[in-house]
Amino acid sequence: MVANMKLISEITDIPVGISACVVGEEVRFNGGHSQSKICREQLASHFSYKPFCPEVAAGFGIPRPTMRLIGDPENPTLTYTKDSELDLTEQLTNAIDPILKRCKGLDGFILKKDSPSCGMERVKIYQRSGYPHAQRGSGLFAKALIERYPNLPIEEDGRLNDPRLRENFVMRVFAHHNFRTEVLEQPSLHNLLQFHSSYKYLLMAHNQTAYKTLGKMLAVAKIEPLESLLPAYHQQFMEAIKKPASRGSHCNVMQHIMGYLKRSVESRVRRDILKIFEQYRLGEVNLITPMTLLAHYINQNGSEYIRTQRYLEPYPAHLGLRN
Ligand code: SF4
Repeated sequence: MVANMKLISEITDIPVGISACVVGEEVRFNGGHSQSKICREQLASHFSYKPFCPEVAAGFGIPRPTMRLIGDPENPTLTYTKDSELDLTEQLTNAIDPILKRCKGLDGFILKKDSPSCGMERVKIYQRSGYPHAQRGSGLFAKALIERYPNLPIEEDGRLNDPRLRENFVMRVFAHHNFRTEVLEQPSLHNLLQFHSSYKYLLMAHNQTAYKTLGKMLAVAKIEPLESLLPAYHQQFMEAIKKPASRGSHCNVMQHIMGYLKRSVESRVRRDILKIFEQYRLGEVNLITPMTLLAHYINQNGSEYIRTQRYLEPYPAHLGLRN
């Protein structure tokens, strides 16, 4: 076990920002909320939510008239839906900066979809005529959050209903948390190399090119000052794992890992395991099936190096994200 590496099941309090209405606070324009069952029930056991409502922080009150974005899709203006002459942009943006400062140290953020403040993408932007532009955009708070914290895993409540996007978001939150606590809070080349080593197969599953690029970056790491190496690695690592891994690349990585069982598991058993990998590749079973089998044999017969690969358990198994 790597010295500063926590067991994944012991990580129960990852700080994650969230639009306050999504976590159940009655802060919406009509005094209601938009509580997400997935956030409250599935993810709350490992996430410690930090709720923010930019519109309430800006003093718009509860209840308040509905708002929308109008004008230039690249630089829209916030107005009341029923009074587009009143420019509310400055009032909201003045409240955003203090919130962004409080977001330092978070490992993820869950935003409310469609909101002119919190929506991450596909938010309607209206023309002066009252019709929406074909081009959609981001809410003003969401845009500022993404700009200030480009490495932060950010997702919308609606997109979390998609199992592949949910799995990828939770995996990225755990990875961000591990990088922050194991490398950024105790910066050393040794800790960076240990982190990279533990994420080797997960990186390979998500992005072969980035896996090679990051490997080369670390091969010459001794001549690079840590102050520039860490942000460059962090940015490229978080970008590399953003896209969900395909069935094909999972199979490729699982076959690589099988190589560690060559001497300890008889060939008949290995052939049976490879058949399950193929069933997964063909879409006949979910990822949990080959992974459970692989993890079982690796835990029994694998070296410490392969047993501590984050790919085998990127988040607690009980979350059921690979089902
Ligand atoms: S979407 Fe954002 S601004 Fe709107 S109520 Fe929810 S937290 Fe507040």
